Amino acid sequence: MTELLSNYLGGTWQPGTGAGTALFDPVLGNELARVDATGLDLAAGFAFAREQGGAALRALSYRQRAALLGEVVKVLQANRDAYYDIATANSGTVRNDSAVDIDGGIFTLGTYARLGDTLGDRHFLADGEAARLGKDPLFQSQHVLVPTRGVALFINAFNFPAWGLWEKAAPALLAGVPVIVKPATATAWLTQRMVRDVVEAGVLPAGALSVVCGSAAGLLDALQPFDVVSFTGSADTAALIRSHPAIARRSVRVNIEADSINSAVLLPQDGPGSAAFDLLAKEVVREMTVKSGQKCTAIRRIFVPETLYAQAAEAIGARLSKVTVGNPRHDSVRMGALVSRAQFDAVQAGLAELRMHAQVLHDGARQPLVDADPALACCIGPTLLGVTDADAAAAVHDTEVFGPVATLLPYRDTAHALDLVRRGQGSLVASLYGSDAAALGAAALELADSHGRVHVISPDVAQLHTGHGNVMPQSLHGGPGRAGGGEELGGLRALHFYHRRSAIQASTAVLGSLA
Ligand code: NAP
Repeated sequence: MTELLSNYLGGTWQPGTGAGTALFDPVLGNELARVDATGLDLAAGFAFAREQGGAALRALSYRQRAALLGEVVKVLQANRDAYYDIATANSGTVRNDSAVDIDGGIFTLGTYARLGDTLGDRHFLADGEAARLGKDPLFQSQHVLVPTRGVALFINAFNFPAWGLWEKAAPALLAGVPVIVKPATATAWLTQRMVRDVVEAGVLPAGALSVVCGSAAGLLDALQPFDVVSFTGSADTAALIRSHPAIARRSVRVNIEADSINSAVLLPQDGPGSAAFDLLAKEVVREMTVKSGQKCTAIRRIFVPETLYAQAAEAIGARLSKVTVGNPRHDSVRMGALVSRAQFDAVQAGLAELRMHAQVLHDGARQPLVDADPALACCIGPTLLGVTDADAAAAVHDTEVFGPVATLLPYRDTAHALDLVRRGQGSLVASLYGSDAAALGAAALELADSHGRVHVISPDVAQLHTGHGNVMPQSLHGGPGRAGGGEELGGLRALHFYHRRSAIQASTAVLGSLA
């Protein structure tokens, strides 16, 4: 029997009382550990976090809490090697892909430690200037933001067990709100290990950080009106969460990051041989293959002028054919596995669905695996699909295959391209490629209402840009419509979710005393 990973709730380690659910190595197929949350007293654990963790965090200033984030960074840095080992075993990722998750999470924490320090020694944030309420300026209204006195429950997706925790926990802890994280079962080990290290280092107050591994059953029932939920995962689970009584009746604030059919668009002015054309081909291949395409921000649809369709297919296919796939422990392997057999099956099913509407331009299934048994390993080569009538291809605009799969689509003119992008019905990110600054700027504004982020790649930033799918803590992460309607990160904007806004109406003297 493998180790049963313990839960940390109510300030103590509490193993579940059930047999547990097994976590597997997606390349070798062996069982790694088990998780279980049966028998936990969730109500007591949530109350402990709210009362002990919340009070201790709120007693500190923003600057002091920022310093705590800095301490967490040090703990994680000291244990980095163990995290890489866990990621290789449990997520099947090559080192560069593990870094996106592990070092991405640490970087995000470090960024919030620095941002938080700039907020100084105060205990609330002023929201705008005081506004006079009548002719006499003596009586005014000042809006303030104060930390919510509840817990922040994170229900996370399997693809970012490290970053997914810290990109949410950094702003929550900085805001003074205790965190309870429920990682996705398939990859819960890394999240649990990071929480364990931070708890054992004793750098956070009791109750500030808890982890529940295993089933989500009962978690939402434990929520109270001042709690908040941040969910990342599928649209189907998001719909269940939104309709839960805690959200529907107790006004628990919820942030949803769901799936997204993200786009890349080569603007019409730049043809084959141009820098923009090459930048598009390079970025598409990077996005299709990083973490085996299991990134919510990955490019799923690629739009090129119809005259360039064949050349784009050839350029992207040529790059894809160089991607070696297999056991992430092997030096020559560039792309590892999908995280589980369930994901492997889901990607195969999604591909079969899209293939009914599209042709295969580059077939990943033909690629031999390096040092991996195709009957056992959840590895799949990158596949580029194509459709010649982008308007008719409804399934392509609607189906997220969460793996190394993207579809090439031709467009007639810029207006047509942007219309097609919008058929994703709200996405996390779109990237634009070209060399005409005015055309790029105009297209970016056209897409801004339907995208949380528009990433513009022109030749002058070829070496500088941060990547279509890379989520930077300084920029907003989230998207409207189908993408869930959520907002995360965006620098200090992220703190708003964890604060309550109130208008204090009082005399100038009273308002002056607040500071
Ligand atoms: P999922 O099945 O919806 O699971 C997400 C989380 O919800 C897991 O922790 C899961 O726990 C939990 N869960 C399952 N049923 C639940 C319920 N009834 N009540 C409360 N929680 C429940 O999603 P997934 O398949 O793991 O994730 C892949 C999807 O996430 C993709 O569609 C991807 O686009 C999206 N995603 C979005 C973002 C973003 O930032 N927008 C980032 C990453 C991924 P168990 O694992 O224990 O079932």
